[in-house]
Amino acid sequence: MFDVTRIPALKDNYIWLLRKGASAVVVDPGDAAPVLDVLQKESLTLSSILITHHHKDHQGGIDTLLAHWPSAKVFGPAQESITGMTTPLRGGERLHLVALGLDLQVMAVPGHTLGHLAYYGEGRLFCGDTLFGGGCGRLFEGAPLSMCESLARLAALPDDTRVYCAHEYTEANLRFALAVEPGNRALRRRADEVAVIRAKGLSTVPSTLAVEKATNPFLRCKEPEVVAAARARGIAENDPVAVFAALREWKNSF
Ligand code: ZN
Ligand code: FE
Repeated sequence: MFDVTRIPALKDNYIWLLRKGASAVVVDPGDAAPVLDVLQKESLTLSSILITHHHKDHQGGIDTLLAHWPSAKVFGPAQESITGMTTPLRGGERLHLVALGLDLQVMAVPGHTLGHLAYYGEGRLFCGDTLFGGGCGRLFEGAPLSMCESLARLAALPDDTRVYCAHEYTEANLRFALAVEPGNRALRRRADEVAVIRAKGLSTVPSTLAVEKATNPFLRCKEPEVVAAARARGIAENDPVAVFAALREWKNSF
């Protein structure tokens, strides 16, 4: 089993450091400085960089990291422009990270961006800006249908999957979730817990898929209370994709 370390970066990003022995892999290094700090302090060698999508807060640190570890491999979405990419991926591949002895499943999860990837292995999901604690990414490039399908694919992973998303957005997301589903008791409990965790300056990530399925409105587009909330915002039918689109629109201006 590999270890995962959280490296806070930029305003509210998390860069995930996967390590075994002296070998390290980072996911979405939006900034190099905090990564270099940890790698140098702990004498780790960077063997690979995994990128979920092209936004700067996820790949801005690649340049500098490659300057320090020129032989590190860079994995990312084939249809996006990724600095120094050595292995373009489309989803559906299996990735074997030799240095960590780790097999990852590469999943195509378009929506936030068209090429967005998620990486899954050993019960851990690195999902970038697709699924967040209590929420999901904005639809910058994709359509509601593709994001719905992407979220459904993630939600189909085992319940105890740990969800390593790329931002600490949970508290604000749960405020929105409560506006959608005030009658959801698991959600109220989670919002209370998260408020305590954040007040202590601690992180709410990773969560689990079980928690997300019980409390994240974007995974609950068939639940009667969520459907009713979307209908109150003007949608005419109960179609889950229309419900999802209405929630996403609402959240943008919440
Ligand atoms: Zn993004
Ligand atoms: Fe981001």
